[in-house]
Amino acid sequence: MMEQLLIEPFRLEQRETPKPELAPGDVLLKLEALTLCGSDVRVYTGEKTGGVSWPTVIGHEFVGTVSQVSQSDQEHLLGTRRAVVPWVFCRTCAPCRRGQTNLCVNVEIFGYQIPGAMSEYIRIPAQGVTNGNLIEIPDSLPAELGALSEPLACVYHGHLRCKITVGSSVLILGGGPIGMFHTMLALRAGASRVIVSEPQASRRETISALGPVTVIDPTGADLVENVKALTDGDGADVSIVCVGHPGLAQDAVRITRPGGIVNLFAGFGRSGVGKMDLNAIHYEQLDVIGNVDSTLDEFHTVSGLIAEGNLDVSAMITHRFSLSQAEEAIETARSGTGVKVAILPDS
Ligand SMILES: [Zn+2]
Ligand SMILES: [Zn+2]
Repeated sequence: MMEQLLIEPFRLEQRETPKPELAPGDVLLKLEALTLCGSDVRVYTGEKTGGVSWPTVIGHEFVGTVSQVSQSDQEHLLGTRRAVVPWVFCRTCAPCRRGQTNLCVNVEIFGYQIPGAMSEYIRIPAQGVTNGNLIEIPDSLPAELGALSEPLACVYHGHLRCKITVGSSVLILGGGPIGMFHTMLALRAGASRVIVSEPQASRRETISALGPVTVIDPTGADLVENVKALTDGDGADVSIVCVGHPGLAQDAVRITRPGGIVNLFAGFGRSGVGKMDLNAIHYEQLDVIGNVDSTLDEFHTVSGLIAEGNLDVSAMITHRFSLSQAEEAIETARSGTGVKVAILPDS
Protein backbone atom coordinates (compact mmCIF):
# COMPACT_ATOMS: atom_id res chain seq x y z
CA MET A 1 0.00 0.00 0.00
CA MET A 2 1.05 3.61 -0.44
CA GLU A 3 1.59 5.84 2.57
CA GLN A 4 3.01 9.30 3.13
CA LEU A 5 5.50 9.11 5.97
CA LEU A 6 6.57 12.32 7.67
CA ILE A 7 10.25 11.64 8.44
CA GLU A 8 10.88 15.03 10.05
CA PRO A 9 9.33 18.48 9.67
CA PHE A 10 8.87 19.40 6.00
CA ARG A 11 10.09 15.95 4.84
CA LEU A 12 7.24 13.82 3.56
CA GLU A 13 8.22 10.55 1.92
CA GLN A 14 5.86 8.59 -0.29
CA ARG A 15 6.55 4.88 0.10
CA GLU A 16 5.16 1.43 -0.55
CA THR A 17 4.78 -0.71 2.56
CA PRO A 18 2.89 -3.89 3.39
CA LYS A 19 -0.58 -3.38 4.85
CA PRO A 20 -0.50 -3.17 8.67
CA GLU A 21 -0.65 -6.52 10.46
CA LEU A 22 -3.69 -6.95 12.66
CA ALA A 23 -3.44 -8.06 16.27
CA PRO A 24 -6.47 -9.81 17.80
CA GLY A 25 -9.37 -7.36 17.95
CA ASP A 26 -7.91 -4.91 15.42
CA VAL A 27 -9.64 -4.04 12.15
CA LEU A 28 -8.33 -2.55 8.92
CA LEU A 29 -9.98 0.33 7.08
CA LYS A 30 -9.47 1.20 3.42
CA LEU A 31 -9.38 4.97 3.46
CA GLU A 32 -11.88 6.94 1.41
CA ALA A 33 -11.17 10.48 2.57
CA LEU A 34 -8.95 12.44 4.90
CA THR A 35 -9.43 16.12 5.69
CA LEU A 36 -6.53 18.18 6.95
CA CYS A 37 -6.56 19.95 10.28
CA GLY A 38 -4.56 22.97 11.41
CA SER A 39 -2.79 20.67 13.84
CA ASP A 40 -1.66 18.40 10.96
CA VAL A 41 -0.06 21.44 9.37
CA ARG A 42 1.66 22.36 12.63
CA VAL A 43 3.06 18.83 13.00
CA TYR A 44 4.29 19.06 9.39
CA THR A 45 6.09 22.34 10.07
CA GLY A 46 7.49 21.17 13.41
CA GLU A 47 5.55 23.78 15.40
CA LYS A 48 3.61 21.04 17.17
CA THR A 49 5.59 18.22 18.73
CA GLY A 50 3.55 17.11 21.76
CA GLY A 51 2.60 13.44 21.55
CA VAL A 52 4.14 12.93 18.09
CA SER A 53 6.23 9.78 17.72
CA TRP A 54 8.56 10.28 14.75
CA PRO A 55 8.52 9.29 11.98
CA THR A 56 4.78 9.65 11.77
CA VAL A 57 1.85 9.27 9.41
CA ILE A 58 -0.33 12.30 10.10
CA GLY A 59 -4.10 12.57 9.64
CA HIS A 60 -6.91 12.11 12.16
CA GLU A 61 -10.07 13.32 10.33
CA PHE A 62 -11.04 10.39 8.12
CA VAL A 63 -13.57 7.97 6.75
CA GLY A 64 -12.93 4.47 5.45
CA THR A 65 -14.51 1.12 4.71
CA VAL A 66 -13.75 -1.88 6.91
CA SER A 67 -11.75 -4.17 4.60
CA GLN A 68 -10.33 -6.72 7.02
CA VAL A 69 -11.14 -7.95 10.51
CA SER A 70 -9.16 -10.13 12.92
CA GLN A 71 -11.93 -12.06 14.66
CA SER A 72 -14.99 -13.94 13.48
CA ASP A 73 -17.25 -11.89 15.78
CA GLN A 74 -16.25 -8.77 13.80
CA GLU A 75 -17.41 -10.03 10.41
CA HIS A 76 -20.54 -7.87 10.54
CA LEU A 77 -18.22 -4.85 10.32
CA LEU A 78 -16.84 -5.84 6.90
CA GLY A 79 -17.82 -3.46 4.13
CA THR A 80 -19.34 -0.88 6.47
CA ARG A 81 -18.32 2.75 6.11
CA ARG A 82 -16.98 4.43 9.20
CA ALA A 83 -15.99 7.82 10.46
CA VAL A 84 -13.53 7.32 13.29
CA VAL A 85 -13.21 9.02 16.65
CA PRO A 86 -9.44 9.50 16.55
CA TRP A 87 -8.60 9.45 20.25
CA VAL A 88 -8.41 5.88 21.45
CA PHE A 89 -9.14 6.28 25.14
CA CYS A 90 -8.44 3.63 27.77
CA ARG A 91 -11.75 3.51 29.71
CA THR A 92 -9.87 2.77 32.97
CA CYS A 93 -8.08 6.01 33.99
CA ALA A 94 -9.73 8.48 36.37
CA PRO A 95 -11.06 10.90 33.69
CA CYS A 96 -12.39 7.97 31.61
CA ARG A 97 -14.17 6.55 34.66
CA ARG A 98 -15.79 9.96 35.17
CA GLY A 99 -17.05 9.75 31.58
CA GLN A 100 -14.62 12.42 30.39
CA THR A 101 -13.02 10.21 27.77
CA ASN A 102 -11.77 13.32 25.93
CA LEU A 103 -9.45 13.88 28.89
CA CYS A 104 -8.05 10.31 28.99
CA VAL A 105 -4.49 10.36 30.32
CA ASN A 106 -3.51 7.23 28.38
CA VAL A 107 -5.01 8.34 25.09
CA GLU A 108 -3.51 7.21 21.78
CA ILE A 109 -4.37 9.48 18.89
CA PHE A 110 -4.12 8.66 15.19
CA GLY A 111 -1.33 10.71 13.66
CA TYR A 112 0.41 11.09 17.00
CA GLN A 113 1.05 7.97 19.06
CA ILE A 114 -0.37 5.65 16.35
CA PRO A 115 -0.16 5.93 12.52
CA GLY A 116 -2.74 8.25 11.00
CA ALA A 117 -4.68 8.38 7.77
CA MET A 118 -2.32 9.79 5.13
CA SER A 119 -2.27 6.33 3.67
CA GLU A 120 -4.33 3.82 1.68
CA TYR A 121 -5.14 1.70 4.74
CA ILE A 122 -5.25 2.31 8.46
CA ARG A 123 -5.21 -0.09 11.40
CA ILE A 124 -7.77 0.55 14.12
CA PRO A 125 -6.50 -0.92 17.41
CA ALA A 126 -8.74 -3.36 19.29
CA GLN A 127 -9.25 -0.82 22.07
CA GLY A 128 -10.77 1.63 19.58
CA VAL A 129 -13.06 -1.05 18.14
CA THR A 130 -14.39 -2.13 21.54
CA ASN A 131 -14.70 1.48 22.71
CA GLY A 132 -17.05 2.18 19.82
CA ASN A 133 -14.72 4.63 18.07
CA LEU A 134 -15.97 3.37 14.66
CA ILE A 135 -19.04 5.45 13.83
CA GLU A 136 -21.20 4.08 11.02
CA ILE A 137 -22.11 6.48 8.23
CA PRO A 138 -24.60 5.91 5.42
CA ASP A 139 -23.50 4.92 1.90
CA SER A 140 -25.10 8.08 0.54
CA LEU A 141 -22.79 10.42 2.48
CA PRO A 142 -19.68 11.62 0.61
CA ALA A 143 -16.66 10.42 2.58
CA GLU A 144 -15.08 13.88 2.74
CA LEU A 145 -18.18 15.22 4.53
CA GLY A 146 -18.16 12.28 6.95
CA ALA A 147 -14.54 13.14 7.77
CA LEU A 148 -15.71 16.57 8.93
CA SER A 149 -17.47 14.84 11.83
CA GLU A 150 -14.20 14.99 13.75
CA PRO A 151 -13.54 18.74 13.76
CA LEU A 152 -17.26 19.43 14.09
CA ALA A 153 -17.48 17.12 17.12
CA CYS A 154 -14.67 19.06 18.81
CA VAL A 155 -16.43 22.32 18.04
CA TYR A 156 -19.73 20.93 19.30
CA HIS A 157 -18.04 19.92 22.57
CA GLY A 158 -16.74 23.48 23.01
CA HIS A 159 -20.04 24.96 21.84
CA LEU A 160 -22.02 23.12 24.54
CA ARG A 161 -19.71 24.58 27.18
CA CYS A 162 -20.51 28.11 25.95
CA LYS A 163 -24.21 27.81 26.90
CA ILE A 164 -25.28 29.75 23.82
CA THR A 165 -29.03 30.15 23.68
CA VAL A 166 -31.77 32.11 21.95
CA GLY A 167 -30.79 35.77 22.01
CA SER A 168 -27.09 35.25 22.88
CA SER A 169 -24.44 37.54 21.46
CA VAL A 170 -21.39 35.57 20.36
CA LEU A 171 -17.99 36.81 19.25
CA ILE A 172 -15.88 34.35 17.29
CA LEU A 173 -12.22 35.29 16.98
CA GLY A 174 -10.86 33.70 13.82
CA GLY A 175 -12.84 32.69 10.76
CA GLY A 176 -11.02 29.53 9.65
CA PRO A 177 -12.78 26.15 9.53
CA ILE A 178 -13.15 26.01 13.33
CA GLY A 179 -14.59 29.53 13.49
CA MET A 180 -16.98 28.64 10.70
CA PHE A 181 -18.25 25.57 12.53
CA HIS A 182 -18.71 27.65 15.68
CA THR A 183 -20.63 30.19 13.62
CA MET A 184 -22.97 27.51 12.24
CA LEU A 185 -23.69 26.07 15.68
CA ALA A 186 -24.19 29.50 17.31
CA LEU A 187 -26.71 30.47 14.61
CA ARG A 188 -28.45 27.15 15.01
CA ALA A 189 -28.67 27.64 18.79
CA GLY A 190 -30.56 30.87 18.23
CA ALA A 191 -27.85 33.46 18.90
CA SER A 192 -29.24 36.82 17.85
CA ARG A 193 -25.88 38.45 17.23
CA VAL A 194 -22.94 36.48 15.84
CA ILE A 195 -19.80 38.52 15.19
CA VAL A 196 -16.81 36.96 13.48
CA SER A 197 -13.44 38.68 13.48
CA GLU A 198 -11.20 37.54 10.61
CA PRO A 199 -8.35 39.39 8.90
CA GLN A 200 -8.48 37.48 5.60
CA ALA A 201 -10.94 38.93 3.07
CA SER A 202 -11.75 35.65 1.29
CA ARG A 203 -12.63 34.01 4.59
CA ARG A 204 -14.80 36.95 5.61
CA GLU A 205 -16.70 36.45 2.37
CA THR A 206 -17.19 32.71 2.98
CA ILE A 207 -18.45 33.37 6.50
CA SER A 208 -20.91 36.01 5.35
CA ALA A 209 -22.60 33.32 3.29
CA LEU A 210 -23.31 31.22 6.40
CA GLY A 211 -26.23 33.38 7.55
CA PRO A 212 -26.97 36.53 9.53
CA VAL A 213 -23.41 37.17 10.71
CA THR A 214 -21.55 40.43 11.30
CA VAL A 215 -18.08 39.98 9.90
CA ILE A 216 -15.34 42.40 10.92
CA ASP A 217 -11.72 42.93 9.95
CA PRO A 218 -9.68 43.20 13.18
CA THR A 219 -6.85 44.98 11.37
CA GLY A 220 -9.09 47.84 10.24
CA ALA A 221 -10.52 49.28 13.46
CA ASP A 222 -10.31 48.83 17.22
CA LEU A 223 -11.75 45.38 17.75
CA VAL A 224 -12.89 45.99 21.31
CA GLU A 225 -14.68 49.26 20.50
CA ASN A 226 -16.16 47.72 17.40
CA VAL A 227 -17.67 44.77 19.25
CA LYS A 228 -18.88 46.92 22.15
CA ALA A 229 -20.70 49.16 19.68
CA LEU A 230 -22.35 46.10 18.18
CA THR A 231 -23.50 44.84 21.60
CA ASP A 232 -25.02 48.04 23.06
CA GLY A 233 -21.77 48.87 24.84
CA ASP A 234 -22.04 45.74 26.94
CA GLY A 235 -19.70 43.25 25.24
CA ALA A 236 -20.44 39.77 23.96
CA ASP A 237 -22.12 37.14 26.12
CA VAL A 238 -19.60 34.63 24.84
CA SER A 239 -16.22 35.04 23.14
CA ILE A 240 -14.63 32.05 21.45
CA VAL A 241 -10.93 32.21 20.58
CA CYS A 242 -10.43 30.02 17.51
CA VAL A 243 -6.86 31.00 16.64
CA GLY A 244 -3.88 30.12 18.81
CA HIS A 245 -2.50 33.64 19.21
CA PRO A 246 -2.04 34.24 22.97
CA GLY A 247 -2.85 37.95 22.51
CA LEU A 248 -6.40 37.06 21.50
CA ALA A 249 -7.09 35.65 24.96
CA GLN A 250 -6.70 39.14 26.44
CA ASP A 251 -8.78 40.66 23.62
CA ALA A 252 -11.52 38.17 24.50
CA VAL A 253 -11.39 39.16 28.18
CA ARG A 254 -11.78 42.84 27.27
CA ILE A 255 -14.64 42.24 24.84
CA THR A 256 -16.77 39.86 26.91
CA ARG A 257 -19.58 41.36 29.01
CA PRO A 258 -19.49 41.08 32.80
CA GLY A 259 -20.63 37.60 33.78
CA GLY A 260 -19.88 36.25 30.31
CA ILE A 261 -17.87 33.30 29.06
CA VAL A 262 -14.44 33.34 27.42
CA ASN A 263 -13.76 30.09 25.62
CA LEU A 264 -10.12 29.42 24.73
CA PHE A 265 -11.00 26.92 22.04
CA ALA A 266 -7.73 26.95 20.08
CA GLY A 267 -4.48 25.41 21.24
CA PHE A 268 -1.80 28.01 21.86
CA GLY A 269 1.38 26.56 20.38
CA ARG A 270 4.42 25.29 22.15
CA SER A 271 4.87 27.90 24.89
CA GLY A 272 1.17 28.32 25.58
CA VAL A 273 1.83 31.29 27.80
CA GLY A 274 0.02 34.59 27.49
CA LYS A 275 -1.27 37.56 29.47
CA MET A 276 -4.78 38.06 30.73
CA ASP A 277 -6.16 40.83 32.91
CA LEU A 278 -6.82 38.87 36.11
CA ASN A 279 -8.71 41.73 37.72
CA ALA A 280 -11.05 41.88 34.76
CA ILE A 281 -11.71 38.16 35.15
CA HIS A 282 -12.27 38.62 38.88
CA TYR A 283 -14.29 41.85 39.03
CA GLU A 284 -16.30 41.11 35.92
CA GLN A 285 -16.90 37.56 37.05
CA LEU A 286 -15.87 35.99 33.77
CA ASP A 287 -15.87 32.26 33.19
CA VAL A 288 -12.68 31.45 31.29
CA ILE A 289 -12.91 27.92 29.94
CA GLY A 290 -10.94 25.51 27.80
CA ASN A 291 -11.97 22.42 25.91
CA VAL A 292 -10.38 19.57 24.04
CA ASP A 293 -11.64 16.89 21.65
CA SER A 294 -15.13 15.47 22.21
CA THR A 295 -16.95 12.49 23.62
CA LEU A 296 -18.31 9.55 21.60
CA ASP A 297 -21.80 10.82 22.21
CA GLU A 298 -21.01 14.24 20.76
CA PHE A 299 -19.30 12.63 17.76
CA HIS A 300 -22.41 10.52 17.12
CA THR A 301 -24.60 13.61 17.33
CA VAL A 302 -22.67 15.62 14.76
CA SER A 303 -22.07 12.76 12.33
CA GLY A 304 -25.85 12.27 12.43
CA LEU A 305 -26.42 15.97 11.74
CA ILE A 306 -24.11 15.81 8.74
CA ALA A 307 -25.44 12.49 7.42
CA GLU A 308 -29.06 13.62 7.61
CA GLY A 309 -28.26 16.89 5.87
CA ASN A 310 -29.34 18.74 8.99
CA LEU A 311 -26.21 20.82 8.97
CA ASP A 312 -24.93 21.67 5.51
CA VAL A 313 -21.14 21.41 5.59
CA SER A 314 -20.69 20.71 1.89
CA ALA A 315 -19.24 24.15 1.14
CA MET A 316 -16.46 23.55 3.65
CA ILE A 317 -14.41 21.32 1.33
CA THR A 318 -12.71 23.71 -1.07
CA HIS A 319 -9.73 21.63 -2.27
CA ARG A 320 -9.25 17.97 -3.17
CA PHE A 321 -6.02 16.08 -3.80
CA SER A 322 -4.89 12.51 -4.43
CA LEU A 323 -2.70 10.73 -1.87
CA SER A 324 0.40 11.22 -4.06
CA GLN A 325 -0.22 14.99 -3.92
CA ALA A 326 -0.10 15.02 -0.11
CA GLU A 327 2.62 17.65 0.05
CA GLU A 328 0.68 20.02 -2.18
CA ALA A 329 -2.39 19.35 -0.06
CA ILE A 330 -0.58 20.33 3.13
CA GLU A 331 0.88 23.44 1.51
CA THR A 332 -2.60 24.45 0.38
CA ALA A 333 -3.96 24.00 3.90
CA ARG A 334 -0.99 25.95 5.22
CA SER A 335 -1.57 28.87 2.86
CA GLY A 336 -5.08 29.35 4.26
CA THR A 337 -6.47 30.03 0.79
CA GLY A 338 -9.36 27.62 1.11
CA VAL A 339 -11.39 26.22 3.98
CA LYS A 340 -10.90 22.47 4.30
CA VAL A 341 -8.50 20.44 2.15
CA ALA A 342 -9.36 16.81 1.45
CA ILE A 343 -7.14 13.94 0.36
CA LEU A 344 -9.02 11.25 -1.54
CA PRO A 345 -6.72 8.21 -1.93
CA ASP A 346 -8.76 6.73 -4.79
CA SER A 347 -8.80 9.89 -6.88
ZN1 LIG B 1 -8.61 17.86 13.72
ZN1 LIG C 1 -8.46 6.90 30.01
